[in-house]
Parts: sequence; structure tokens; C-alpha cells
Amino acid sequence: MFVRMSETISVIGGGLSGSLLSIYLAKRGFQVNLFERRPDMRTNRIYAGKSINLALSTRGLRALERIGLDKEILEDAIPMYGRMMHSRTGELNYHPYGKEGQAINSVSRGRLNLKLIELASAYPNISMHFNARCTDVDLNKAAATFELEDGSVKTFEANRIMGTDGAFAATRGRLQITDRFNYSQQYLHVGYKELAIPAGENGSFLMEKNALHIWPRGSFMMIALPNPAGDFTCTLFMPFEGENSFDKLKTREEVSRFFEEQFPDAVSMMPGLLDDFFANPTSSLVTVRCYPWVREDKLALLGDAAHAVVPFYGQGMNCSFEDCVVMDDCIEKYGDDWARIFDEYQKERKPNADAISELAIQNYYEMADKVGDAHFLHKKHIEHELTELYPDIFKSQYELTTFSLSPYKYALDQGKKNDALLERIIAEKAESKITDPAYMAGLWHLIQ
Ligand SMILES: Cc1cc2nc3c(=O)[nH]c(=O)nc-3n(C[C@H](O)[C@H](O)[C@H](O)COP(=O)(O)OP(=O)(O)OC[C@H]3O[C@@H](n4cnc5c(N)ncnc54)[C@H](O)[C@@H]3O)c2cc1C
Repeated sequence: MFVRMSETISVIGGGLSGSLLSIYLAKRGFQVNLFERRPDMRTNRIYAGKSINLALSTRGLRALERIGLDKEILEDAIPMYGRMMHSRTGELNYHPYGKEGQAINSVSRGRLNLKLIELASAYPNISMHFNARCTDVDLNKAAATFELEDGSVKTFEANRIMGTDGAFAATRGRLQITDRFNYSQQYLHVGYKELAIPAGENGSFLMEKNALHIWPRGSFMMIALPNPAGDFTCTLFMPFEGENSFDKLKTREEVSRFFEEQFPDAVSMMPGLLDDFFANPTSSLVTVRCYPWVREDKLALLGDAAHAVVPFYGQGMNCSFEDCVVMDDCIEKYGDDWARIFDEYQKERKPNADAISELAIQNYYEMADKVGDAHFLHKKHIEHELTELYPDIFKSQYELTTFSLSPYKYALDQGKKNDALLERIIAEKAESKITDPAYMAGLWHLIQ
């Protein structure tokens, strides 16, 4: 391995994208200093942070493949081939996510982060600093200041800084007070709370194992993702205020009554519901948009630091990993021209981050509300038929977003065209004609 000792890069934030990016940079021979405000998860095994499991799909897997970790992560993942919808009366309705064999993968956030940190620690040119909270950045010198565990304050200089410190990034905070930096953050009116369905006897799954379960209820919903130990991590997404809201669930009786009414088939599998409900926090969901993501050749933002998105498309981490891939590709292409590397990186990623941000908000309304709507389900059915009948011509928005490496912006635009096509078929009452290539030939221009 060629070590470019003259080039030191500070990576601030050792979460999912920071640990992956450090490995990419180390493989290219840079001296990497990785700073993380939390303790070292290898020693105390605290899997701090938000949701317990995440859906890993094609983009994320491609990023892990680059460091040889994809297969190992998949060994412990649970493939989810479709959505299983639960009605109030307990009826189940299953819809595949894609073609046969296509799945999104439920993986443990903590385990994935731990694996990345372990792999990073094997590189002699990565120095890891835990319990190091970034408090300031000097953009001219690429120097960052940290509060350390013992209360001391230390400044580290480098040639450049990569800010991977998440949705509330200190690195971005420094950019926010520079001229012509655009920034917005928007909280969703919906918050979330994590709950659990424990495993049955001998670690058995109490519901279909290979599906993402959804209890759509219009203005709110619950979802559940399987874990290898047989349990499911459930997340209740609900408005903070209003008729059906967290605000209305203040006592054990209120919570109990609400779950009995809304999720009767789930409640019987949730013996710890009331304790979990009051022990676990109610968290908020934010969309962060900003630009530029870089400052000359000194600082670049990646991952949630550049574009926090709401979690309803299961793409935040996948998108963040794709940022790292694109940064790595730009380094490969533009060599030592860091101003160009950073600029090409942001130009390629920004429109795509904006697109996934829009798709993620749209998907909330789809999951919570539309998956229970007959017209929507009818459209989904035709869409699925078309993907099976004409795999080379017709690709659904979900497939483009989740099972392909096509830019998110393309998936967003194509989804709108697909929708026009589906509406046309329904308006013409032509569902039975979709198997006729001659009929479809007259419609394909709609998705060109
Ligand atoms: C409820 C929920 C469900 C989700 N589900 C999915 C899913 O199914 N699939 C998917 O792809 N994505 C999902 N996401 C999104 C995903 O979690 C994020 O997009 C992803 O974690 C972003 O990675 P990151 O490394 O940029 O940020 P993070 O994972 O947040 O890591 C940032 C790191 O920086 C550290 N840090 C923060 N501030 C400082 C500081 N000042 N100094 C030093 N270190 C600092 C933090 O401790 C943390 O380790 C979900 C998110 C939520 C909230």
C-alpha cells in the first residue's frame, strides 16, 4: 500500500459514512484521522444511535463491496422480499418489492457500524479518536477543534476535512456562517418511537420473516423489520399533535386502548408494549438541505451532514454510502486536484440528494395512507405486471431507487412518467390489454 504521508485527512464523525469513507481514503494511501464523539463501540459495545435496524439495498451493497464487506454483512441480514400490510381487522395483504428474488435487507445498524470500525482499525494509516467532539472548524487551515473525554480541548490540523458528522453536523454548522451558504431544515409533523415484537419459542418469528410489515392507518402507521434473533423492531410513526398523535397517548390506559383499536393483531405479540412506550424516546424527523457542500479544497460534507432525509424510502444510509463511492471515484479521476474533486463530487450528488429527499417524503404518504387505498393498489398491481412483462422497457420507481444504481433524480422523473402511463391504462379500462405488445407500443412514448 502506497502511503501518501504528506496528505492528512480529518474525517469527522465515525458513524456509517465516516467509517466507510476512512477505509476508502486509507486504501488510497492517505493518512486518516477519524474523530467520533461517542466512545469506542469495540470496547463497550454500546450501539448508540437511532433505529436498531436499517434496510440495506443495492447502492449500499455496492459501496460495501468496494471494501469486501458486502457478503459478510449479508450473511447476517434478513432479506425482505415485499411489504406485508396488516389491516385493522388483521387481514394480511402482501406485495412484492420487485421481481422474484429482489429484496431489501434488514441489517443491524450497530453491527454494521462496528464491522466498519473494526475494519478501519486494521489500517495502519487510520488513527481513531473516540470521545472527541468537534466544536469548531477553521476552514482556511483545515483545522478542527475537539473536546476530549478528559475535558481538554485540542486542535488537529490536516490538509483537508471530510464532515460526516450526521444530521446536526458541527462541520456544516461552521459553513452555515459563511457567505452565500444556503441552508434549510424542515421537521416533519410526524415523530417516531421504537417498540418491539420479541421472538417466539426457540427464536421463532411470530410473523412472516421475509417481509417488511406495515400497519397503514392514514395519518399514522407502524412498521416492523425482522432481526436474526427472531424478534422484530417496530417503529410507530405518528403526528406529534392532533387527533391520533403522541400528544394523546399520555397514560398506560390511553396507549393500551389505542393499540387495541388500531393494531389488534400486533398488540398480542407485544408483551412489553407499555414499558417500551414510556421508556423509549419520541424522536423527530428532519430534512436538511444545504449548498454548497464543499469549501474550496479544504472541506466537504458527506452523508446526513450534507442531506438528512426522512427514513421512508429506506435510503438515507444507502445514499450516504453512495456519496462515499462518488467521492472515491472523483479522487480516482482527478488525482491531486482537490478543488476539482470536491466540486465534481457536489455537482454530481446534490441533484440526486434533492431527489431522494423528495421521494422519501412522498413515500411517507404512500406507506401511511395509500397502501390501504384501492386505486393505489390497483395501480401497483398493473405496475408489477408491466415490470414482469416488459423488464427491459418498464422499470418502476421503486426498482430504480432501490434495486438499481441509476441516479435518484432519474428515478424521481421516471416515476412521474410511469404514473401518467398507469393512469392512462386505468382511464382507458385497458388493464386486460397490457399483455398485448401492440397496445403497449402506443403508450411507451409516455415513459420516454
Ligand atoms: C428511524 C430511522 C430509520 C432509518 N432507516 C433507514 C433505512 O432503513 N435505510 C437507510 O438507508 N437509512 C435509514 N435511515 C437513515 C440513516 O440512519 C442515515 O442516513 C445514516 O445513518 C447516515 O449516516 P451518517 O454517517 O451520515 O450519519 P450518522 O450515522 O448519524 O453518523 C454521524 C456520526 O457522527 C458523530 N458525530 C456527530 N456530531 C459529532 C461531533 N460534533 N464530533 C464528532 N462526532 C460527531 C455521531 O456520533 C455519529 O457517529 C434511518 C434513519 C432513521 C432516523
